Amino acid sequence: MSFDYDLFVIGAGSGGVRAARMSASHGAKVAIAEEYRVGGTCVIRGCVPKKLFVYASHFAEEFEDSVGFGWEVGSRSFDWPTLIANKDTEIDRLNKIYMRNLEASGVEILNGRAVFKDAHTILVDGREITANYILVATGATPFMPHIEGIEHAISSNDAFHLEDFPSDITIVGGGYIAVEFAGIFNGLGSDVMLVYRGEEILRGFDGDIRTHVQEEMIKKGVDVQTENDVTSIQKNDDGFEITLKDGTKRKTSCVMYATGRIPYVQGLGLDVVGVELGAKGEIKVDAYSQTSVENIYAVGDVTDRSQLTPVAIREGAAFAETIFNNNPLAVDYSNIPTAVFSQPPVGTVGMTEEEARDEMLEIDIYKSVFRPMKHTLSGRDEKTLMKLIVDRRTEKVLGLHIVGPDSGEMIQAFGIAVKMGATKSQFDATVAVHPTAAEEIVTMKQPVS
Ligand code: NDP
Repeated sequence: MSFDYDLFVIGAGSGGVRAARMSASHGAKVAIAEEYRVGGTCVIRGCVPKKLFVYASHFAEEFEDSVGFGWEVGSRSFDWPTLIANKDTEIDRLNKIYMRNLEASGVEILNGRAVFKDAHTILVDGREITANYILVATGATPFMPHIEGIEHAISSNDAFHLEDFPSDITIVGGGYIAVEFAGIFNGLGSDVMLVYRGEEILRGFDGDIRTHVQEEMIKKGVDVQTENDVTSIQKNDDGFEITLKDGTKRKTSCVMYATGRIPYVQGLGLDVVGVELGAKGEIKVDAYSQTSVENIYAVGDVTDRSQLTPVAIREGAAFAETIFNNNPLAVDYSNIPTAVFSQPPVGTVGMTEEEARDEMLEIDIYKSVFRPMKHTLSGRDEKTLMKLIVDRRTEKVLGLHIVGPDSGEMIQAFGIAVKMGATKSQFDATVAVHPTAAEEIVTMKQPVS
């Protein structure tokens, strides 16, 4: 049987684009459909614009910190529409690069919503297209819990396009997005209240990291309300009134939910073709990203394996290698380094202390809390935390966790050592780079417990 394409990709985000381009480079005839904008969440309304916002929000502290170094900074003001417009220009530029790269790889781009008709047939806005293989890479979409007045709340998607900068904002959630946006809005001058249902933000991260970030956020002025929740939102003339679980009511200009992202499978017609879904609606796949239907594969957030762009890219590349280069490749999910662009930011790789203890491993913990050199003159009360989890038996560094400036950059490099199975002695044998914060990682001598 002949098909229009060897591969049809649904969704031109990080995973879909990588899979499409690599498959085409292996000689496949490929088309990709996108209903919104080529680039996906990360480029259009995620990692990239978020990081630009993080940069923007840092200037407030930089101006303050410069005084201790002899600078006199004159009057300053922040213009939200300028930031939005410049961010949009950059996103447009990246969007065009993504489209150009796809076209240069020989991938045909179809603007429109794709739905399954059968296992080999896709409808794009009514047009019938057939393909031997179909790859679902539709990503995830913000999850908004069903509470009274939730329609008044925004998600991170909307935060990138707010018309007016909110003088104050209530952010619900305690994960990556909530914590990152709390730092952004706080830095840009909003009064921020973060409402988190758990005891401490960033569940799943190392306990010391969670405590440290939360304390530093509070020091910077974020009102962190833990073991609390928003139970209803009411619109009034000058904003909203929210009711909290503890019974208190508060006025707020904006309510943002960052309560997780769910696989975007709605209306795709997966039921028509019999693709199996898991409990959260994620597409169930095997190690090679194959779904329960032989010729249909899925990569990225829609599979809910690890909701991180670089992981989706790996999954896309592994799919292309497996199917179109005759080289079955499964992604290795161990020791994935990751950063939270909170303020201060977090960089982490490997096991947390809690995970190591749960596995009954005998471990040594090395920990250092210190004032970054810059703040000896700026006078800012902010501390950096570095923590190593070491297997006492093998000496292997099982985990490395950092809170502090540039921790995302550090963890990318140290992640290689942890991934390679480096031991504490090998860390110790590495000569320090002085004066840096990172040198602390190779100079921690005494375990704390
Ligand atoms: P997360 O899963 O990180 O956090 C969701 C938060 O919402 C948790 O604190 C959770 O609480 C809370 N929550 C969930 N359901 C409810 C509810 N019904 N009511 C109240 N609170 C609730 O999701 P995010 O939305 O922050 O981000 C989605 C994913 O995107 C992340 O997991 C991450 O993988 C990715 N991402 C990565 C970034 C990066 O690499 N820097 C940046 C942004 C996103 P609890 O802890 O109790 O479950």
